[in-house]
Amino acid sequence: MEKKMWEIQFLSLPHILKYCKKCGKKMAFACSEQFRINAQRKYLDIWLIYKCLNCNTTWNATIFSRIYPQSLNPKVLERFHRNDKDLVEQYAMDNDFLRRNGVEVQLSQYSIIGDSFFPNETVELEIKSKYFLPVKVSSLIRDTLHISQKEYSQLVIDGKIKSIPNQDLQKCKLKNSIILIFNEKSDDNPTI
Ligand SMILES: [Zn+2]
Repeated sequence: MEKKMWEIQFLSLPHILKYCKKCGKKMAFACSEQFRINAQRKYLDIWLIYKCLNCNTTWNATIFSRIYPQSLNPKVLERFHRNDKDLVEQYAMDNDFLRRNGVEVQLSQYSIIGDSFFPNETVELEIKSKYFLPVKVSSLIRDTLHISQKEYSQLVIDGKIKSIPNQDLQKCKLKNSIILIFNEKSDDNPTI
């Protein structure tokens, strides 16, 4: 079976949705790409700063709260101090981290890098993501292969798209990776 690979690339850091006190309602906040570090006393606090898109009110997502400074690798601490871009991405693209901070994540636009194929080809497809942002697998496939919701559902119902391990392909979301089998050839079913 021919193997194909897709990699999902997010075009920007996702906005988060939370209540803004100044605006008086739930608003979208953008990541400032800056950390705030408080190391004045014997404890260390580190946050990632977000800003309301409407009024610039800041909100801090907690990364570390009251930890001993010695417990953090000095090289990592230095990366926080210089707002290291990869470190910012690591947190701003982490759905679990943002949810632990009690906010909703608004998915950013993404593109798919990889080999294209037709929905009727026999293919083993691996979809990979460097970061855990919950994109629906069904949307990814429909957008990339240019098929409708109805066509997609029919392929799933007919068993022409399967996943390893088996997941609900109408609902499941991409984590770090998923493997899909399109149009598996089977001796038991000579009509395929
Ligand atoms: Zn606001």
